[in-house]
Amino acid sequence: MAFIEGALLTETDDCIPFPFGRNADGYARLGNDEYGHVVVCERAHGPRPTPDSVVAHSCGHAPCVNKRHVRWATHADNADDRAKHGTNRRPKVGPREIEFIGSELAHVMRFRDIAIMHGVSGSTIASIVRKVAGGRR
Ligand SMILES: [Zn+2]
Repeated sequence: MAFIEGALLTETDDCIPFPFGRNADGYARLGNDEYGHVVVCERAHGPRPTPDSVVAHSCGHAPCVNKRHVRWATHADNADDRAKHGTNRRPKVGPREIEFIGSELAHVMRFRDIAIMHGVSGSTIASIVRKVAGGRR
């Protein structure tokens, strides 16, 4: 799926929330038994190391498909993560991300797609791009 391909190519430390189908727990659902965070983990970090391995999110954000935020872990590790993170955090666009969107992404992706990738509105992206461009003048 294009969104997953895009997420795999994106280098960011911010969450990349999957905007399409999600299961009851908030995980990115691609098809029957395929999940976005699992596909991203397999592609970025290799196949599931043991049958007991599950994908853990370092950010605690279930819909996130950032390859830097997912890793193979055991069920026990994953439960620890959840306890540590408590409730899910809202994705946000940080200062480094704003610079990246304004200087790189805006030239190669549509605002709408960037907005979906970051869980914000298209007008937020437009204002980020204006701000970054304005700062350069
Ligand atoms: Zn994340």
